[in-house]
Amino acid sequence: MSAGTGTPQDVAEQAARRRTFAVISHPDAGKSTLTEALALHAAAIEVAGAVHGKAGRGGVRSDWMEMERARGISITSSVLRFEFDGALLNLLDTPGHADFSEDTYRVLAAVDAAIMLLDSAKGLEAQTLKLFDVCRHRRVPVITFVNKWDRPGREPLELLDEIEQRIGLRPAPLTWPVGTAGDFRGLIDRADRSYTRFRRTPGGATRAIAERVPADRAAAEEGEAWRNAVEELALLDEIGATLDPDDYAAGICTPVLFGAALPNFGVSALLETVCRLAPSPSARMDADGRERPVTAPFSGQVFKVQAGMDRAHRDRLAFIRICSGRFERGMSLVHAPTGRPLATKYAQTVFGRDRSTLDTAYPGDVIGLPNATGLTVGDTLYARTPVTFPPIPAFAPEHFMVARVTDNGRAKQFRRGIDQLDSEGVVQVLRSDLRGDQAPVLAAVGPLQFDVFAARMADEFNAPVTLNRLDYSTARITDKESADTLNGRRGVEVLTRTLDGALVAVFVDKWRLRAVEREHPGVTLTPMLAAG
Ligand code: GDP
Repeated sequence: MSAGTGTPQDVAEQAARRRTFAVISHPDAGKSTLTEALALHAAAIEVAGAVHGKAGRGGVRSDWMEMERARGISITSSVLRFEFDGALLNLLDTPGHADFSEDTYRVLAAVDAAIMLLDSAKGLEAQTLKLFDVCRHRRVPVITFVNKWDRPGREPLELLDEIEQRIGLRPAPLTWPVGTAGDFRGLIDRADRSYTRFRRTPGGATRAIAERVPADRAAAEEGEAWRNAVEELALLDEIGATLDPDDYAAGICTPVLFGAALPNFGVSALLETVCRLAPSPSARMDADGRERPVTAPFSGQVFKVQAGMDRAHRDRLAFIRICSGRFERGMSLVHAPTGRPLATKYAQTVFGRDRSTLDTAYPGDVIGLPNATGLTVGDTLYARTPVTFPPIPAFAPEHFMVARVTDNGRAKQFRRGIDQLDSEGVVQVLRSDLRGDQAPVLAAVGPLQFDVFAARMADEFNAPVTLNRLDYSTARITDKESADTLNGRRGVEVLTRTLDGALVAVFVDKWRLRAVEREHPGVTLTPMLAAG
């Protein structure tokens, strides 16, 4: 990474160059393909597929677990970094599988912008809606990319309507397709009305051939497809579907682009839009409501902790998003929750599966700290002037299991494994005096989290577990006083979340929850951030 002086001006300039973002989408909408296409356009890699292609494309997959390979999904996330047009882009990968949404949500706590990727034939799908809710909650502005335009799909106006009706975002198309989905000819840039025609390259593994065609020639050559597009554009102008950058930043409006990631249609326009519109890192609010400007001394927040990425060195890597200041390898940081110093001699960049040491990094960048025992998701790290950022919200679990060690001789390994996987956020661990330490309750947003938990307990901690399902399906945060009212009721139980000591009330179903709310209006039952 570039070496700088570390003065406030240097930090401000470096921060201004950065765009830290993630792609949110439903599985199969084309996230991996788009990631490769973006990196290809930005010339970060040479051949599409080198980043994290799926089976068959020979990419650098994060295959740290057999399970991952067997199920053909990517569970771990990493960061991809590339340069485009003077900007430095950090693309934080999000695991695609629905059950790993909790991990994905945490990644959204570390970005400044998101690309919402839609399949042109499917529009807004379940997973996209959930993820969009998190973006709204965290005020992450969203750029929409309608993908797979090379295949039969829906009408563009209908898709815009769906965005407006279902998620209340005002869509403002920046490009407009000539030719319906499945018969894609090219894109009109709404800003200057220039037309770019696309032609496939064999295999789609390199840039599509893009040709600027003057309007009169396009009108003659594209025929009816052109006339339709021009008509629709006039309609868009009439209804005022134009972009207001302030409304985009405020999360009221979403710029929309059309294209196809696989044959590389419209991807460079998306890249330019990210550079032009997505906000660069800015001042962050601390837990006391004060702003920490990007030029303040170093601060960052742990948004992900992961162990077992590399079987050869059983390490534990904490991913930290830099919020302010310049990071220099070897600098001493303070771990805000404990006040303990933290060495950073072995700090790494995290690029795909490759890890290399880094010397300096700036706001918006992600650094990896290996062997970071004691670091938990949400923790703040700082240098010189103390700061604590608000915790990353935990998501409402909907699945619950009791875990027990299979072999009683392994109680110690069992405890160590539970602590570790809890701090990584693989599952949330809940306890109560009644149940005891030998039988903690595990809570998850998606049931696949339990499989990962069990596999890792057996594999890494040598403590195979037995899991038994509990009948609960919904949870609320409560307090000590209310817990006394809740305990003893049928279908309700109050547990303590190990990580932060919060009291969590779990309910068999929504009816029980409503009954309690009706009968005891004074009881505290705060919803957790909904995952569905
Ligand atoms: P992910 O699950 O969102 O990461 O989706 P992938 O990138 O793996 O894509 C899912 C499938 O859609 C793959 O078979 C891709 O080749 C295909 N795909 C992705 N983008 C496009 C596109 O623009 N056009 C077409 N025709 N197929 C695409």
